[in-house]
Amino acid sequence: MKFFSTNNSDHQVDLAEAVIKGLAPDQGLYMPMEIPILSKKLLDKFPEMSFQEIGNEVIGALFSSALSQEQIRELVDHTLTFDAPLVKLEEDVYSLELFHGPTLAFKDFGARFCSKLMSMLLEKSDRKVRVLVATSGDTGSAVANGFLGVDGVDVIILFPKGKVSELQEKQFTTLGQNITSLEVDGVFDDCQKLVKEAFLDAELNEKLLLTSANSINVARWIPQCLYYFYAFSRLPKNDKKVAFAVPSGNFGNIAAGILAQRMGLPIDQFVAATNVNRVVPDFLNGADFQAMSSIATVSNSMDVGNPSNFPRLLALYGGDEQVLKDNVKGYFYSDEETIEVMQQVKKSGYMLDPHGAVGYKGLKDFMGENSNYQGVFLETAHPGKFRGTVEKALGEKVILPERLAAFLEGEKDVTAMGNDFEEFKGYLKSL
Ligand SMILES: *Cc1c(COP(=O)(O)O)cnc(C)c1O
Repeated sequence: MKFFSTNNSDHQVDLAEAVIKGLAPDQGLYMPMEIPILSKKLLDKFPEMSFQEIGNEVIGALFSSALSQEQIRELVDHTLTFDAPLVKLEEDVYSLELFHGPTLAFKDFGARFCSKLMSMLLEKSDRKVRVLVATSGDTGSAVANGFLGVDGVDVIILFPKGKVSELQEKQFTTLGQNITSLEVDGVFDDCQKLVKEAFLDAELNEKLLLTSANSINVARWIPQCLYYFYAFSRLPKNDKKVAFAVPSGNFGNIAAGILAQRMGLPIDQFVAATNVNRVVPDFLNGADFQAMSSIATVSNSMDVGNPSNFPRLLALYGGDEQVLKDNVKGYFYSDEETIEVMQQVKKSGYMLDPHGAVGYKGLKDFMGENSNYQGVFLETAHPGKFRGTVEKALGEKVILPERLAAFLEGEKDVTAMGNDFEEFKGYLKSL
């Protein structure tokens, strides 16, 4: 399997290069050259198969030219160590709970797959890899927990001092082993700038093997298609069409759903639901694509003004804007609407997190306008991850799952770092 850059289809690389580089040299996103199509006969067997068995078939179809069957099984087993249950909320409305992993958000799937695949691809190399990650919260915890204890890889996380919630911070600063956290005197953009400069610094790149594990990496993006296949297989079989609603920020998660559709999964409609960072819904409703600065909302993991996976949406539909608009409907919601939905759904006994609430509302609005559908929305995080917002909205305590509460007892261990590239470079050179 070869990958091309969305900026230049003549630039083609193998899996190892796409994963280790992350981003193409021309800043394009890597995309698979051919998308394998699973037969209807195989898809019809999925309802009787386990999540892991489905994972083996799908990852096998995509990666069998680059990895052995043994490696594929190992990768899938390492990634899918927790379930993604489909919970029925109402007639024809289902929540796909993606928060049962170690850091309670769907990013665990991609981070676990990425860490394992990177260590496999580097097995024969005796060089140590350094993964640099700038985070405003969730990415740091998923990547740190995904790479914890992985041989040959050290992870260095840069986060803005005082700008990350206590719970989020504890999820990556207390781990030890191969995970180091740098507390940067600045904001998230400063952290990202330091990381970008490091990737461009010739001297550092000669001395160290540096890589990124951010969400545009194919090794984080592709495995997210697995839970679409799984959820679809668990829906009741009837003559209703199927819609998936995805609360979206950088649009990697929904792009993985479209990948599943292109591989033959008969999803009829996608609903892209956002907060007021509405660039993509506006585009889908007829406006030009216009990046903007991000606006802070209660669903803060989706506060993205320039969604980095947007080129993938177009590429998946062969660059045809109209086909994209026919397959994906866009909706956006204010914080007030999000909170109202959380309150309303809680009355029927289900607690949504603010991101899942945006997805739920998108699905309901779509189904209100279109009949004969059954729909799934992706519940991307446990409400306990955003308990400040949830407790305020619902007026009741959120009980933290044990594994989340356990992080709070860990000892924070960080290295202070100024917002200055020479200082950061000196630190990296000393490793
Ligand atoms: C990252 C994140 C999202 C957005 O996912 P994208 O793939 O960036 O669209 C949604 N919800 C939660 C909880 C997240 O952490």
